[in-house]
Amino acid sequence: MQKKEELYSGKAKSVFATDNDDFVVLSFRDDTSAFDGEKVELLSRKGMVNNKFNAFIMNYLAENGIPTHFEELLNDTESLVKNMQMMPVECVVRNVASGSLVRRLGVEDGMTLSPPIFELFLKNDALHDPMINEYHIETFGWAKAADITEMKALTFKVNSLLQKLFAEAGMILVDYKLEFGLFKGKVYLGDEFSPDGCRLWDAETRKKLDKDRFRQGLGGVIEAYEEVAHRIGVQL
Ligand code: 5GP
Repeated sequence: MQKKEELYSGKAKSVFATDNDDFVVLSFRDDTSAFDGEKVELLSRKGMVNNKFNAFIMNYLAENGIPTHFEELLNDTESLVKNMQMMPVECVVRNVASGSLVRRLGVEDGMTLSPPIFELFLKNDALHDPMINEYHIETFGWAKAADITEMKALTFKVNSLLQKLFAEAGMILVDYKLEFGLFKGKVYLGDEFSPDGCRLWDAETRKKLDKDRFRQGLGGVIEAYEEVAHRIGVQL
């Protein structure tokens, strides 16, 4: 597979064309951003850690019946993925209250959510990723009704699989964000799953082991990501 020109550069990853239109290269950079790109820093090793972490999770999900865009790990910071038409929607599941849910509704941080809460956001930095629902998505043509149903079902299936994976490694999967796309008309999980897009707390101490360490200036960001990777068995 020949890597060709850059197609797109996001806040933490870049996408490159290949000599096969069906596949693109995802390149994980060390850039770390928060607050819709207002806080940006380069954190050494982040690209490598997230690339390998994501490969591990995507493979685990695929082995357990989740269709994903992931094809193969190419090197330390790059992976080959399907060239999907991404839906501009973020699917969030919350098992424990934290982050924007607490700010929005004034509920207690750390409260267990039973049943878990599912939320949808529009992927749009200029509008600060506003919360939306199924009606906005269908009416504005961001995804078809059947694809929304599929995204939601897959997001909950991922929740059961990953809650168990992290619980067995002594962590609580507090919440996470997934993005989906279409490839040859079918819905696949896209983007990445890494500590950049989820909240993970140590089950005993509730120490934050995710991007909240960066958002809140707690330090030890990459060390925490590496600890999570090590606990679930990712080879870095
Ligand atoms: P919240 O709505 O509380 O800010 O985020 C809920 C969960 O989704 C958190 O785990 C957060 O990391 C993830 N999340 C929400 N929006 C984004 C985003 O734009 N980028 C990334 N990387 N993660 C997000």
